[in-house]
Amino acid sequence: MKEEGEIEKIKRKEERVEKRLAREQEQKKKADEKMDRGKLANKKFTCGVCCMRGRVLDESKGIVWFGCDEKVCGKWYHFECLHRSEQEYLRESMEEGESWYCKACKPWLYCEE
Ligand SMILES: [Zn+2]
Ligand SMILES: [Zn+2]
Repeated sequence: MKEEGEIEKIKRKEERVEKRLAREQEQKKKADEKMDRGKLANKKFTCGVCCMRGRVLDESKGIVWFGCDEKVCGKWYHFECLHRSEQEYLRESMEEGESWYCKACKPWLYCEE
């Protein structure tokens, strides 16, 4: 009887340790996620059209940012702020997985006439 009690105690202790480890891992995961979000949240964009400053986190509010793929440009734009032809070109390039350049960089891409 006494031995069974000991085994039971050890078992419970092991369970506690396992639970604690699981909890620690969970907390670490959460902390990592928070840090990743924090990094993104710190990245600020200035819209090339309306000059409003924003963050990637704005996406949770339905504000979507797109960056020009021209290295020397590096401008970001609200999708809503872009010209219709830019929006269409942006959609196409996203579907085809291609780079997108804003009208200021490559105006010839937008010649409709
Ligand atoms: Zn804007
Ligand atoms: Zn550009």
